[in-house]
Amino acid sequence: MSVVAIVGRPNVGKSTLFNRILGERKAIVEDYPGVTRDRNYADVTRYDKPFTLIDTGGFEPVSEVRMLVQMREQSQLAIEEADVILFVMDGRDGLTPSDEEVAEMLRRVDKPVLFVVNKVDGDKQEEQAAEFYSLGIEHFFVTSAEHGRGMGELMAAILDELPEVKTVEDDSAEVRLAVIGRPNVGKSSLVNKLLGYERVVANPTAGTTRDSVDTPFTYNNQRYVLIDTAGIRRKGKVSQKLEKYSVVQALKGMDRAHVVMVVIDAEEGITEQDLTIAGYAYDRGRAVVLVVNKWDTLTKDNQTMKKFTDEVRGQFKFLSFAPIMFVSALTGQRVAKIMETVEDVAQQFNRKISTAELNRVLKQAEEAHPPAMYHGKRVKLFYITQTAVRPPSFTIFVNKEKGVHFSYRRYLANKIRQPFGFSGCPIRITYRDRE
Ligand code: GDP
Ligand code: GDP
Repeated sequence: MSVVAIVGRPNVGKSTLFNRILGERKAIVEDYPGVTRDRNYADVTRYDKPFTLIDTGGFEPVSEVRMLVQMREQSQLAIEEADVILFVMDGRDGLTPSDEEVAEMLRRVDKPVLFVVNKVDGDKQEEQAAEFYSLGIEHFFVTSAEHGRGMGELMAAILDELPEVKTVEDDSAEVRLAVIGRPNVGKSSLVNKLLGYERVVANPTAGTTRDSVDTPFTYNNQRYVLIDTAGIRRKGKVSQKLEKYSVVQALKGMDRAHVVMVVIDAEEGITEQDLTIAGYAYDRGRAVVLVVNKWDTLTKDNQTMKKFTDEVRGQFKFLSFAPIMFVSALTGQRVAKIMETVEDVAQQFNRKISTAELNRVLKQAEEAHPPAMYHGKRVKLFYITQTAVRPPSFTIFVNKEKGVHFSYRRYLANKIRQPFGFSGCPIRITYRDRE
């Protein structure tokens, strides 16, 4: 998916603009709802060109000098990764030296940069905004993110600048695997180890894409493609040092993946960024395997694995379906098991269940435990059908969709998971009214 990045000093209104562009929060249809995470990226899917919106802000300025450094880094990130950059300035504060410096830097970029003067709530501020023309920029977007002013023009320009939507050809014969995680968790070590196994036959004709180098390989007669994300092959780049950078690359890798291996460092424990990345995989309905690496570094007793499992389960609540593995790329401990797990999860992810079987299970579930009444009326489950794979998605037709209580949805999700072996992958269930 294309990326639109918002850049600018703290307090100019980036997050307000972010929320304004995002519009109403997209409801996630899943069997484990109720996950709220603080995040600075979101998918905007309500236009014909969907994109990922990133607010690169969120840092605390310590000093003017420090802020400038951070703004440069932030802009660098946007320049490298975004398809369209929104540079936001504050129409009330007027032009500041750091704005000038960053604007100068962005002017020389050969990517679309839209210069936004925000907090222009009325005509009075509009007059003040004229001083921004001294930057020598031809066109400004004058907005009030708070009140929605100027948003139409800005949105039109964003959509205009975004590249045409390319459809990723979905070769159903291959499983695309992304290995993601913060820098230094051991992604490259793991990948090298994995590809080094006898049973994993690397395919010499590696395909390349704009963003990454993919490595095809075969395991148990199944074709896989390893999607290379940050840190595996392009090590040593300046921007690797930036925490945010690896997130953006991880997001792009996950876009194209079926199965996502989220690698966590056992020594460092779970970090905020691990959760952000995993949250994105969850939002996208990807199958996830949680791999705790560097297991060799811990002094263990017979409780260590259980404690760590509880910790992971507690933190990654929304990924309750994801298998957890404890491995060491250094010693090779359990690394051979990783592909077994990936294979299992990938098969679930592609599993198609016949309508007859599904309806048999639905009927049984309903008989064992009928739905509660809704406004004095019986809630009826008519029919279930699988509408998609990757992830397995189902639609249940009912007489009153609103009447199916959250806890009942959860009950049905579990009832559908169990008999069909969807233990390690996400499933989606949509409820629809049928007269
Ligand atoms: P960020 O640090 O760049 O993400 O800025 P925020 O979005 O958090 O906004 C900083 C402050 O500016 C908040 O108090 C917002 O309510 C306010 N703000 C944002 N956009 C506008 C606007 O268009 N007009 C006015 N008057 N205030 C705004
Ligand atoms: P990446 O940035 O995620 O690709 O991480 P690397 O694979 O480059 O590994 C980062 C560092 O961690 C290197 O010094 C590795 O040798 C080390 N490392 C990777 N896996 C393990 C492991 O399982 N145990 C230990 N002790 N060190 C590891």
